[in-house]
Amino acid sequence: MPDRSILSVPTRVAPPCRVLLLGGTGEAALLARAIIQRYGERVALTTSLAGRTEQPMPIPGDVRIGGFGGAAGLIAYLRTHDIDILIDATHPFAKQISAHARLACGAVGVERLMVLRTPWQRHSLDRWIEVADLAGAAAIVANVGRRAWLTIGVSEIGAFADVADVWFLVRSIHAPSNPLPLKLHEILIGRGPFSLLEEQHVLQRHAIDVLVCKASGGAATEAKLVAAREADLPVIMVRRPAPEPGAAVVSVEAAMSWLDAFLARRAVSTRDPRLS
Ligand code: NAP
Repeated sequence: MPDRSILSVPTRVAPPCRVLLLGGTGEAALLARAIIQRYGERVALTTSLAGRTEQPMPIPGDVRIGGFGGAAGLIAYLRTHDIDILIDATHPFAKQISAHARLACGAVGVERLMVLRTPWQRHSLDRWIEVADLAGAAAIVANVGRRAWLTIGVSEIGAFADVADVWFLVRSIHAPSNPLPLKLHEILIGRGPFSLLEEQHVLQRHAIDVLVCKASGGAATEAKLVAAREADLPVIMVRRPAPEPGAAVVSVEAAMSWLDAFLARRAVSTRDPRLS
């Protein structure tokens, strides 16, 4: 006869912590890798992508693709999937999903952590012209240069559709599926991070005389700013929107420390009281 008392001994193993990681950035992919490596089955990780990129980089853990259907849809997702933590590691200009994340987590009572990129610091030799948005950049670009390098992503290129007398170089991860709504342009395929040498080469080869970019921050795409500074080129810089309020860290390492602390607290609170 098997000893049944052994089978009924309560276990100390807590159920996996269910983490929803809002991604679409290099930081989110790094974080997913770090989470799987460090916690293994202690964490059930799902990375969520909007579906903008046709061939996203491989990401460990589960991946879901597509919008949730607004804040209400995200609330339903958090409830249905019994999410414990939402980590918002989306791009600093992805304002809508971050606002939805704040609303949804508040409504359901789910812990939320934002992973923010360190903003770029303006150097005394930088020739930045700061604007509030892409419409502001489009309004002035023809007054600043004739050969502009747009590093804003193809989905918002329409803001420049009415600009005449400017040739645009557009960098994109993949060849766009539809023709770009620009009068004069060339597409450059490439996925960051980019080195200073690569960025200098682009500026020279295409005789760029103005760079247009979003103040996204972070190291992966900063080299183009150094290249523009060294070539004494003007940069039309779209200001970064203010982040949502709430708990935030500025690196993958700091996000992992936050998770360590959360999981330690959770292990204490989910411990079977019969074991204490
Ligand atoms: P957004 O304006 O904040 O979001 C628009 C809608 O797209 C959201 O309401 C949501 O749809 C859906 N969405 C966005 N991110 C999602 C995610 N990670 N998972 C599931 N659904 C998501 O965002 P965006 O500026 O279009 O950017 C889309 C994605 O591309 C983001 O994930 C961002 O990290 C990445 N990205 C953006 C930029 C940029 O410059 N904006 C640059 C690089 C990467 P529902 O309302 O239906 O849920």
